[in-house]
Amino acid sequence: MSLDGAVERREGSPAGNGNGNGPVMAPPTRPTYGDRRLRLNPNTEHKPERYDDVQSEFDPAIFSSLERHLPPSMLEVPRDAKVQFMKEILARYLPEGERNRPLHKELYDLHPSAFFVPSFLKAVNDNTEESFRKILSEPSPGIYTFAMLQPSFCELLLDEVENFEKWVNAVKFKIMRPNTMNKYGAVLDDFGLETMLNKLMEEFISPIARVFFPEVGGSTLDSHHGFVVEYGKDKDVELGFHVDDSEVTLNVCLGKDFSGGELFFRGVRCDKHVNTETQPEEILDYSHVPGQAVLHRGRHRHGARPTTSGHRINMLLWCRSSVFREMKKYQKDFSSWCGECQREKKERQRQSLAATKMAFLKGCGGSNI
Ligand SMILES: [Zn+2]
Repeated sequence: MSLDGAVERREGSPAGNGNGNGPVMAPPTRPTYGDRRLRLNPNTEHKPERYDDVQSEFDPAIFSSLERHLPPSMLEVPRDAKVQFMKEILARYLPEGERNRPLHKELYDLHPSAFFVPSFLKAVNDNTEESFRKILSEPSPGIYTFAMLQPSFCELLLDEVENFEKWVNAVKFKIMRPNTMNKYGAVLDDFGLETMLNKLMEEFISPIARVFFPEVGGSTLDSHHGFVVEYGKDKDVELGFHVDDSEVTLNVCLGKDFSGGELFFRGVRCDKHVNTETQPEEILDYSHVPGQAVLHRGRHRHGARPTTSGHRINMLLWCRSSVFREMKKYQKDFSSWCGECQREKKERQRQSLAATKMAFLKGCGGSNI
């Protein structure tokens, strides 16, 4: 039986139908918990338990990731029952010898001098607007680019992702996709890099976001979604125009050799104005360079042009702020960051100024005659 039978079908497939293998069933002696099919996409609302103490040959992080894929009925059961259930899934579907052991253990903890180029490290250590300005370019307002990752780190991470994907393919563990738009790539948080990526956000991205994106929650980032996307032949080719589900997005090119794949930016917009026209000054095309990062607001509309040859892999870290999201619900005017709100506000000010002028002139006219 393949895992496919256990995974929720993407569209319209009747419950339990699977691919003809029937539903994944528990041995009859065990209590049943209703529908036991795994979710195709992780339940991101659900906060999984920690399984550091679980004695098994699997990385405890796998249990936490897998918990997000459990059917709703399984989320309520005692932790031990969850562990048992997940152990069975893992044991059944992971062939001997094909288990996902980290290739490069050093990636799972953040080692600043091994990960980052010295200029980036110094800027973050100095932690002032001036130190950041020294390393950042701002080719268009709100889009910052800078040299960030060491080539050796990019190589290790690429290797690790490849290893992870081999394992995913070997076990047909098709439950991890980076987001709703990319088919190729992997969620880094799902294979144990969550702690490292959280540190990356808290200690290296937050200090910059605090200075350059305070109006979109840049000073209160508190969660992340980290993933890699792959473009090229037999992968995703391009990415349509969209906004990210983040307050601040870090997009770093890891390699390899490629041509094309430029990012195009088209201005920052709030929910209401997401489809409004682009102003000429908002247009920017950016070509990726391995090791180089782009940092922008999640609401900065963008897309990726076709990668015309080779293979391009980028790491993305969507940084979020729950405080900002909560506050946003009560706001109507986003002129501090939405290009269109800003234009509307200026237009209202222009009109009210014109009306005041008119009233004043009329008043003058009346008293003079
Ligand atoms: Zn707006």
